[in-house]
Amino acid sequence: MITVLMASAMTYDRRASSSITLFFKDHNSSCHCPKVSQKYTGIIEDCCCDFETVDSINGEVLHPLLKELVATPFFRYFKVKLGCRCPFWPEDGMCRLRDCSVCECPENEFPEPFKKNFHPALISTDFMCQEGKSQASVDRTVDNGAFRGWVETDNPWTNDDETDNDDMTYVNLQINPERYTGYSGPSARRIWDAVYTENCPKYPEGEIFQEKKVLYKLISGLHSSISIHIGAEYLLHELTNQWGENPELMNDRVLRYPDRVQNLYFTFLFVLRSVMKAANYLEHAEYNTGNNEEDMKSHSLVKQLVHNSKLQAACPLPFDEAKLWQGQSGPELKQTIQMQFKNISALMDCVGCEKCRLWGKLQILGLGTALKILFSVDDKNHPSEPLQRNEVIALLNLLNRLSESVKLVHEKADMIENVVHIVEPASTKTSVWQSINQIMRLGNSST
Ligand SMILES: Cc1cc2nc3c(=O)[nH]c(=O)nc-3n(C[C@H](O)[C@H](O)[C@H](O)COP(=O)(O)OP(=O)(O)OC[C@H]3O[C@@H](n4cnc5c(N)ncnc54)[C@H](O)[C@@H]3O)c2cc1C
Repeated sequence: MITVLMASAMTYDRRASSSITLFFKDHNSSCHCPKVSQKYTGIIEDCCCDFETVDSINGEVLHPLLKELVATPFFRYFKVKLGCRCPFWPEDGMCRLRDCSVCECPENEFPEPFKKNFHPALISTDFMCQEGKSQASVDRTVDNGAFRGWVETDNPWTNDDETDNDDMTYVNLQINPERYTGYSGPSARRIWDAVYTENCPKYPEGEIFQEKKVLYKLISGLHSSISIHIGAEYLLHELTNQWGENPELMNDRVLRYPDRVQNLYFTFLFVLRSVMKAANYLEHAEYNTGNNEEDMKSHSLVKQLVHNSKLQAACPLPFDEAKLWQGQSGPELKQTIQMQFKNISALMDCVGCEKCRLWGKLQILGLGTALKILFSVDDKNHPSEPLQRNEVIALLNLLNRLSESVKLVHEKADMIENVVHIVEPASTKTSVWQSINQIMRLGNSST
């Protein structure tokens, strides 16, 4: 039994690294998106790429590039307002959860230009914060002039005024990973309920207008990604502080729902398309933190990403935004969706766990930036406003989170299917999960 399980775990590894040349397509062919897609194969609904191509190009090209990119100084410091100012209901008292709390990190972690005009804001003195130690820590620095050449503009899709630096803090994302925090129960449920029931209800089965589906799919895809990250880095034993994967959680919340998996891939392709559309802007942007070597690396990685020949050959148009808002009701529909997205962005101030709020705000700003690039355009389909530095940081970090989730879903779905196939029907659900954990332990100990 163990031999079979190990073999199955090893085949998934080999398949994950298979050659992408198999999936190259003719990039001159026009984009006709077939409607139907199966579980994890075939065309992703409302997109122009299939699962296999996305898995392959993501594993070989996008994920390694993005992982390196977000670790560079330019992309790891994010400016954010973390104060609890929920505009919809009184604070629910969840802001003090230890696992979600925010604290200040030593100044010597930040690049020199970030220390100019340093004014600590909203500093919690409750907990010490050291790299790699606390699951709860968030670093803060206030910065008013670290990056030159970037404009201060407000994002028309989000609620926060990005030009207002009052109460803004800088956070080192590398030492504040998005993972399990313990935030759950009525507070978390209330946010997701408000998001889905009031702002982006699920569209009826058979809805043919892509415009009416897009917001729900983007949010559901982001929700899937958040759940996958919770399952990927989970606190298994609180007393011994043992962290590890929780495949059952990934399965229960995402993998066993084909539509949630579809929506994750959709969101990934939507954001990827926005990055490709902004290629020229991103290529010429200034990536300056005062560390020449690292800044050149950021710039070079961005160029490798936006002009990647393998990506352009495999999936030249991940999502076709030109098809949207064409009908008579297009402008009105766009306005409604913009208002709904703004509401969702305001709801991030109600998230009762500071670290979840940080990642919620970053990813919503990232999505807002993708929406701005794709939909806030002039009559030549060119973005009507320049991008702000913080928007670019949010956009690329969001793409990295989605890329990581897609990679995990691809790997875990394969593994889970194999295991379930092997042990059913003789075993119970619990023993399936025991088997998966066993594979993971064996896999980890063999590396
Ligand atoms: C913005 C935000 C960020 C968060 N970040 C973190 C974090 O970093 N770490 C952490 O540990 N917790 C985080 N949480 C909490 C986490 O998302 C869950 O709410 C919590 O773990 C409880 O999960 P649950 O099983 O009750 O289901 P939830 O994930 O809360 O889902 C609630 C309901 O939404 C529906 N649903 C679930 N997934 C989808 C989907 N993909 N598409 C459509 N509908 C869906 C289902 O009906 C489900 O019952 C965050 C919450 C929010 C609102």
